[in-house]
Amino acid sequence: METKGITLVSHGSFEKNFLEALAKDVQVIFGMPVLVEQFLHDIASYFDPTRKQYDANRLLQLVDSEYASEGFKTMGIFKVDLYIPILTFIFGQAHYRGNAGVASVFRLRNENYGMKGNDRLLFERFRKVIIHELGHTFGLIHCHVPVCVMRPGNYVEDIDQKKHLFCKKCSIELQAALLLNASNSTDQA
Ligand SMILES: [Zn+2]
Ligand SMILES: [Zn+2]
Repeated sequence: METKGITLVSHGSFEKNFLEALAKDVQVIFGMPVLVEQFLHDIASYFDPTRKQYDANRLLQLVDSEYASEGFKTMGIFKVDLYIPILTFIFGQAHYRGNAGVASVFRLRNENYGMKGNDRLLFERFRKVIIHELGHTFGLIHCHVPVCVMRPGNYVEDIDQKKHLFCKKCSIELQAALLLNASNSTDQA
């Protein structure tokens, strides 16, 4: 199956410039067209009133079933606080070798940690989360090269220490995954 492109589906009021810059970076990193679309579903029923957070597993299912399509990688991008049952919060998650992922800026904001807001740093963190989750959809696993975008991290400090780029090993794996997609589509043709 050929990967035709990546779609970023944004929920909430992200600034146009923010989304465009994000799309451009993702396009450069993965070398394929990136579309930005609007997330249209009401997510009120995904809110857990006890935790005061949104259920990321169910949101991921929603993105997969309503916005993703075969051959596209689709990331739902949010401003709300995301959780999965075993963790206090998550920055994002994705289906391994799947079509969909989700990510939120909520826990990436300096203001959450008693610090002054920083738009540039927020963007920097968010693009790393998006690229990391997209990496999973292309079959990349966690990597322990300190600066690699596939390095896992539970804190913003972990994200700040890595780059938005794949290390050499992960780049090679990504290129192989992209080639495999392309050759599978030729086989089917
Ligand atoms: Zn990961
Ligand atoms: Zn790596």
